[in-house]
Amino acid sequence: MNLVVKEIQAKSILSVSKVYPYVINPYIGCQHGCSYCYARFMKRVTGHKEPWGEFVDVKINAASLLEREIQKKKRGRVWVSGVCDPYQPLEATYTVTRQCLEILAHQNWPVIIQTRSPLVLRDLDIIKDAEDFEVGLSVTTADDGIRRLFEPHAPPINDRIEALDELHKAGIRTYAMIAPVLPRAEGLADLLKGKIDYVLIDRMNYHYADWVYRKYGLEDALTDDFFYLTTQKLASL
Ligand code: SF4
Repeated sequence: MNLVVKEIQAKSILSVSKVYPYVINPYIGCQHGCSYCYARFMKRVTGHKEPWGEFVDVKINAASLLEREIQKKKRGRVWVSGVCDPYQPLEATYTVTRQCLEILAHQNWPVIIQTRSPLVLRDLDIIKDAEDFEVGLSVTTADDGIRRLFEPHAPPINDRIEALDELHKAGIRTYAMIAPVLPRAEGLADLLKGKIDYVLIDRMNYHYADWVYRKYGLEDALTDDFFYLTTQKLASL
């Protein structure tokens, strides 16, 4: 896959969010490039012409912006991240997410991390010592073959489950984000048992990946019945 990486100077970093009080997106764009990703609207917002998943702007001044902005804003939970994966592969080199977490932890701000990547384990030292950090891994199916159809560039499901296990054993509050619920998600009930404190579940709300369902004859998994039955099975979590 082609990837166009640009280092940019962002104008701000600690943004107001509708989901949690604040959100930090250290990157514009996401290398994981999931077929159903709702965040592709960022292409329009930022004027990117490359396909979703093939561009990433790195906010290299994120930490210095955050140092300043955090002094001026009222303390509130920060979501990391909303429209990119904060632990996409480039984070291993750029460490923009890590730098932001260091500041948030130092200032005792509560944080909710959401990722598809076990790279989050690299920052266990910060997360463990922080006063109020929790970590969620998005897991959408129990079948890695299905994962490869919808999220070919994101880490394998088992790696995410193992990351949750390690975080949970380290005493960190963890959650699984089963969203969107993909085919064979019901098997997650067994895989996640004992590894999370809570679960968030949501159905496929967008049509970007309809072509994947059609191509592989999985249209049944777009129905209300599928979502209802799968949610029932996951309710044991
Ligand atoms: S990891 Fe999240 S932000 Fe990145 S492409 Fe997938 S759904 Fe979108």
